[in-house]
Amino acid sequence: MPPDPLTEEQREIRELVRTLARERIGPRAAEIDASAEFPTDMVELLREHDLLGLPFEERFGGTGTGALMVLVAVEEISKVCATTGLIVAVQELGSLALKLAGTEEQKERFLPRLASGEWLAAYALTEAGSGSDSAAMRTEARRSGDQYVLNGSKRFITNAGVAGLYTVFAKTDPAAGHKGISAFAVEADAPGFEVGRIEPKMGIKGSTTGEIFFNDCRVPAASLIGEEGDGFTIAMRVLDRSRPGIGAQALGIAQGATDYALEYARSRETMGRPIAEHELVAGMLADMETKCEASRGLLYKVGLMIDEGVEGGELTKISAMAKLYCSDVAMEVTTDAVQILGGYGYMKEYPVERMMRDAKITQIYEGTNQIQRLVIAREMVKENRASLLAEVS
Ligand SMILES: Cc1cc2nc3c(=O)[nH]c(=O)nc-3n(C[C@H](O)[C@H](O)[C@H](O)COP(=O)(O)OP(=O)(O)OC[C@H]3O[C@@H](n4cnc5c(N)ncnc54)[C@H](O)[C@@H]3O)c2cc1C
Repeated sequence: MPPDPLTEEQREIRELVRTLARERIGPRAAEIDASAEFPTDMVELLREHDLLGLPFEERFGGTGTGALMVLVAVEEISKVCATTGLIVAVQELGSLALKLAGTEEQKERFLPRLASGEWLAAYALTEAGSGSDSAAMRTEARRSGDQYVLNGSKRFITNAGVAGLYTVFAKTDPAAGHKGISAFAVEADAPGFEVGRIEPKMGIKGSTTGEIFFNDCRVPAASLIGEEGDGFTIAMRVLDRSRPGIGAQALGIAQGATDYALEYARSRETMGRPIAEHELVAGMLADMETKCEASRGLLYKVGLMIDEGVEGGELTKISAMAKLYCSDVAMEVTTDAVQILGGYGYMKEYPVERMMRDAKITQIYEGTNQIQRLVIAREMVKENRASLLAEVS
């Protein structure tokens, strides 16, 4: 991989995002966290600069700049505001099922409104009783003439209440286990669709996380994405491509915390010199920077692989690795950043305590890091590697 794998066009977009992050997004981050209100002004800013179009092809009104570019944008925004970075990541997450398995008619109908940012997207897989074990979901969809009728509920859905379109997974054949799951594109104004409580939470406070209900919710039969029974496979294919987005959010938080801690350590003096020159602090800074750089290498490699069309187990494994590694690094690095700022690090006046709270979610959503480890090990066991074991006769 070249030192900077971005094309000229992608570098220009990165510069634009960096400028917006520095001048417009960063200054809002503490307020968004304190108010815990969904930042509609940030959505407007992303819209104005076409950043919600990043995950989409040009023919649907997007920028057509590929998966790596989305990761870079999420990383740059999350350096200053993880809530705003998540808005871009979830625009991708919530639209991937349509991009991967939708018909041309569905793509033409939905993707332009997502690419323009008119609609935000959401991805609704988790339920109260099924998170890691998503196949245990209970929401059902029954065919009725030229419609499907959905009943059940989903929990912890990002963008609940602000999304215009929800990708919803429901069982069309409850007896068939994960093979009975199907995917649907559900518009927010579908009859019988309701948004419940928005959860107060530890970090990414401006992002809405809420419950959604389907009470005899009727959607046109043409809302089915793929065939009946394809839903679980679609859900997993989506996660292979969206988990790196969480890795990018995590890396952004980690790099933002490292940059802040470095600046602080250069100016804060104890015992007659800047704390950055005390070896124990210098060692922490060096580890933080190294972990960020290693995360970036892994993350950008996945972005390039997605843009080259890599599919299947190879993608599943490396995408889980990127999400796992970047998010563990984000938690470690932000904890160290708080340590470097000492008592000030624990205060709301400085951003690193927010970054530490924001980092935690990246180890949990889109599959906990325990689940990522299981996924990686499962793919390793499947691989056909040359045997290193001596033959025993
Ligand atoms: C802020 C936020 C936003 C979210 N956004 C979305 C969203 O937009 N869409 C969506 O569908 N979901 C979303 N989620 C849900 C999220 O993906 C789940 O919370 C997550 O997958 C874990 O599921 P769970 O909470 O049910 O935990 P559980 O599955 O109950 O797990 C509890 C603990 O047990 C461990 N565990 C479970 N099974 C195993 C196993 N087999 N081996 C080892 N350890 C195991 C887990 O790692 C975890 O530590 C969001 C969650 C949060 C908190």
